[in-house]
Amino acid sequence: MSRKLKGIAAAPGVAIAPIVHFHATLDHIPTWKVGDGDVDAEKARLSYAIAEVTRHLESLQRELSGAIGKHEARIYDAQLGILHDQTFRREVEAEVAQQRVNLEVALQRVIARYEGVFAAMENASMRERAADLRDIGRQLVGALLTTERQKYTANGIDYLFAAEEFLPSDAGILDRAHIRGIVTAQGGKYSHGAILARSLGIPSVVGVDQVMLESNTGTLAVVDGDAGLVILDPTHEELHDYEQRLLEQRSLDRRIAEVRFQPSVTTDGTEVHLLANVEGVRDLDALEVDAISGIGLFRTEFAFMERRQFPTEEEQVGMYRRAIDRMRGKPVTFRTLDVGGDKPLGYFRMPEERNPVLGWRGIRLCLDWPDILYTQIRAMLRASAAGHARVLLPMVTTRSEVVRCRDVLEQLLQDLRATHVPHDTKVELGIMVEVPVLVNVLPDLLPLVDFVSVGTNDLVQYLLAVDRDNPRVAKMYDPFHPGVLRVLQQIADAANAAKKHVSICGEIAGDHWFTPLLVGMGYRDLSMAPVFLPRVKLMLRNFSLPECQDLARRAAAMDSTRAVRKLVQEEILQRWVASLHAGPEEPVR
Ligand code: PEP
Ligand code: MG
Repeated sequence: MSRKLKGIAAAPGVAIAPIVHFHATLDHIPTWKVGDGDVDAEKARLSYAIAEVTRHLESLQRELSGAIGKHEARIYDAQLGILHDQTFRREVEAEVAQQRVNLEVALQRVIARYEGVFAAMENASMRERAADLRDIGRQLVGALLTTERQKYTANGIDYLFAAEEFLPSDAGILDRAHIRGIVTAQGGKYSHGAILARSLGIPSVVGVDQVMLESNTGTLAVVDGDAGLVILDPTHEELHDYEQRLLEQRSLDRRIAEVRFQPSVTTDGTEVHLLANVEGVRDLDALEVDAISGIGLFRTEFAFMERRQFPTEEEQVGMYRRAIDRMRGKPVTFRTLDVGGDKPLGYFRMPEERNPVLGWRGIRLCLDWPDILYTQIRAMLRASAAGHARVLLPMVTTRSEVVRCRDVLEQLLQDLRATHVPHDTKVELGIMVEVPVLVNVLPDLLPLVDFVSVGTNDLVQYLLAVDRDNPRVAKMYDPFHPGVLRVLQQIADAANAAKKHVSICGEIAGDHWFTPLLVGMGYRDLSMAPVFLPRVKLMLRNFSLPECQDLARRAAAMDSTRAVRKLVQEEILQRWVASLHAGPEEPVR
């Protein structure tokens, strides 16, 4: 019997492959029944895991005895003692043999029993042994799961990544040639893991509560990143249907390929610039420079987050230059460090906050640590000598923040001029519109900046008071809310009236159902994960500007999100479906 688990559609597309568990802990372990003939195999796995963990502990002990002294390094003796305790081992084996459970479950149960006994003891040092025991259990389970995982990830087999969460740092451990889909128990459509998955073009479903409990490494599954559905152990019929879907996906891909190098214009010739969001230099190689108008958002923080310490000015210049060189004169919008909230920096101590999303993040943090800001903007300015760079400030809330950043920029420009360091003297400065109050004061701020970029991911979460990372309220996170549309219209009107460039770099810019609405509101620059760019262009090429304007006006006037969605279904979706079946367009280069 197949099992269907509902989640949140985070990155489009369909994938069929076995699941592989990542980041498993003693609390989230795979469970399966052990047959009569498999008990010995489980015992052999135990011997293997004990040998692995022993090897690891002994090498740690050797390594640390130099650093912390031989005496202190003996704390590992206690752990090794537990590991080789015959009573402990016999109990685990008995649990497997009598209860017919897999080794991971047996370990979890025996350790829980021991923990209970230790925790009830009067003697504090005995109570501490409970922590040692738990640690040993964690390591044994870790060794077992790593081996299971390697059966898939080391052998060139396609697989689905499954974990509690998909963390930005996970991008580094994925085997890009064989990862087919991502499914996570937590996360929302606009969490950074989901954004990353989209930028990697990997079909993903997030917020699937039970996925780690209901599946094991090796469970065959379907990830439907369009419907937000995961099917474990699919039936033959389901497999057949999804294989069909994979074929359809390919025909959409073909249609998309036709418009790849066509201009991004409405049917009556209004040009809309489509730009790319990138998360780091590693995204640069994959960019089709001829098909985009530039980089509309370079999230610099991801490069900072992957490191063990702050990058130096020189290192940053190198990174920014690579982006500028790659774009061959097209603009690159570098956003200054946007850490805090859900993006911690391991090497920079941030206080525990009750509401980190409303806390010390983005430009607030950088203005409190001006060294970080100075170094970063200076590096951007130095890199700007090679092409077209723009500086974008995240999470701006007040006029005074913009004034202070402008001052920093002016001072740095003066320094560079005085010391004859090459740079672009006319680097543009822009702000993200993410904090709702900014919308009301935008006309006062616009004279201070050269452009604005609307960060709808945060803006929508603040407008609707819905945490973008919380699956429980994820359904309420709906940018089609007419109130959101009216705010977007207000921003476009203010910027266009002041003749300042305005773009959208939040995820809705890459959501093709939004395209006619955003164009109708007056947006001419949309920046998105490159994977969405062809769809957005294909959609754009189906509507005239007056049609877009009419749709935008009617959508914003609706009295409910449902009514907006109905309008989208009836007038945008229909046109889209018709266009997919239209005759081929001649590809133009
Ligand atoms: C946004 O908030 O829309 C945005 C682009 O910034 P981020 O998603 O990195 O917070
Ligand atoms: Mg943001």
